[in-house]
Amino acid sequence: MDQQQFDSELQTYFLHIKHEIKQEHIEYLKKHPELNQILNDFTSQIILEKPDNVYQYAKEYFSFFNQEKDLKTCKPLVISGASGVGKGTLLQMLFKQYPQQFVFSVSYTTRAPRPGEVHGQHYYFVSKEEFQKEIEKKAFLEYSEVHGNYYGTHLAQVQKVMKQGQVCVIEIDVQGAEKISKSMPNQCNYIFINAPSVEELRKRLTGRGTETEEVIEKRMKNAQKEIEKAHQLGFYNELLNDDLQKTFKKLIDLLKTFYVDLKL
Ligand code: ADP
Ligand code: 5GP
Repeated sequence: MDQQQFDSELQTYFLHIKHEIKQEHIEYLKKHPELNQILNDFTSQIILEKPDNVYQYAKEYFSFFNQEKDLKTCKPLVISGASGVGKGTLLQMLFKQYPQQFVFSVSYTTRAPRPGEVHGQHYYFVSKEEFQKEIEKKAFLEYSEVHGNYYGTHLAQVQKVMKQGQVCVIEIDVQGAEKISKSMPNQCNYIFINAPSVEELRKRLTGRGTETEEVIEKRMKNAQKEIEKAHQLGFYNELLNDDLQKTFKKLIDLLKTFYVDLKL
């Protein structure tokens, strides 16, 4: 065999090996779809939080996998109830009392911020186009149109909190809760907050002073539908928010039964 022949055979051999290796890689990726999921979740989360130190963030993010064996994931807590019933007030009290155990899932919304609402804390306030992009990326665990605006729960956020062994609190409407109950059957705890009467609900919504008369009317119309739908769904634990302090105590008592390991 002369040099030229040798080089040519070597070339063919390398091409063959390269092809085989490529095939092997493809086979591996096919066998492990979770790899794509892990990388997509990581990318979504990092885009959401935009940390300055990406290396440090990645180190902390992936460290969850090291603890996987002794990790106790907590079921997310889904809270619903008509607008103005007191969900936000009760949740603020909960986060104040148990800042380590419960983490709020910050939804995306296309509605405008109210005075005092902070982007990234109360909601991620985005345009309809940005919301659409997240839908296309399949970034939402669920999303719904509520009172004429879009709202969505970010999947990567919920997964991150669960991996940390904390309770992810998802405050969403009943349509959203129904979608979650179908995509994650028996994997969440559900609470529906009720007001003592329709008049009291209107009083609270008006008293909060954040909505126009037109928006209040729209939310009051939806309230009755939401209550009926919640009853139909049948998976909610109901809590009547009459006296705030007493209701908070009832809420904690209920959470103690849901999350025995947290020792609340
Ligand atoms: P939601 O988050 O369900 O829309 P909020 O927590 O914003 O409702 O409560 C609406 C208004 O009702 C607020 O002004 C809040 O202070 C008031 N509120 C909440 N719970 C009670 C209660 N048990 N009794 C009287 N007012 C309440
Ligand atoms: P608000 O505009 O008063 O903050 O919220 C209006 C309604 O949208 C409330 O019933 C709230 O629970 C619901 N909501 C907030 N975030 C989400 C979400 O991510 N998904 C769904 N389906 N509903 C949400």
